[in-house]
Amino acid sequence: MLNLVLFGPPGAGKGTQSALLIDKYNLVHLSTGDIFRYNMKENTELGILAKSYIEKGALVPDEVTIAMLEAEVNSNSKAKGFIFDGFPRTHKQAEALDTFLASKGTAISAMLALEVEVEELVVRLLERGKSSGRADDQNPKIIKNRIQVYDNETAILKDYYSAQNKFVGVKGVGSITDITSSLCKEIDTLI
Ligand code: ADP
Repeated sequence: MLNLVLFGPPGAGKGTQSALLIDKYNLVHLSTGDIFRYNMKENTELGILAKSYIEKGALVPDEVTIAMLEAEVNSNSKAKGFIFDGFPRTHKQAEALDTFLASKGTAISAMLALEVEVEELVVRLLERGKSSGRADDQNPKIIKNRIQVYDNETAILKDYYSAQNKFVGVKGVGSITDITSSLCKEIDTLI
């Protein structure tokens, strides 16, 4: 199986690039942000809970997020592999993912990290907020909070995957096609 963590701060382009990569490599895209937003739209119990965190720019608690992610993987039992987008975001999530995948006889192949300067992230998120309807993209204070959460809790995962020799940094600035090519070049070394 090819299991990729597509990593990077909010606004780095994980969603855009995931959509372009899944067809080429025949992978299932699991975006925790998308799954939460779907549940929010449908007003499910999970959606109502997630909303209270997401609208502040905070992380949804690990237990809830991990259980949701595992259920999604289990419901795609025929998948040839996954792109994890927005997961893991904490050390606890990364450990849970390793244990869970090991129990299925598989593992993360690599973490591909999109690298983008913070000034560029804020510009991109505010721009996306104009059309996406995402409340968390429209308020500079919430954006700042999300980037801070990334710096405090999520960025350390680079060390986590480096320790396993699985960290790959990719420049996330330039044309979408060029960034896809850089990612493909790295992915092709894994298969
Ligand atoms: P972005 O990468 O642009 O911040 P996402 O769509 O990935 O946006 O996530 C939106 C929000 O959903 C996050 O700010 C967070 O509140 C919540 N969320 C997404 N993934 C996770 C996760 N793995 N753990 C906790 N909360 C998450």
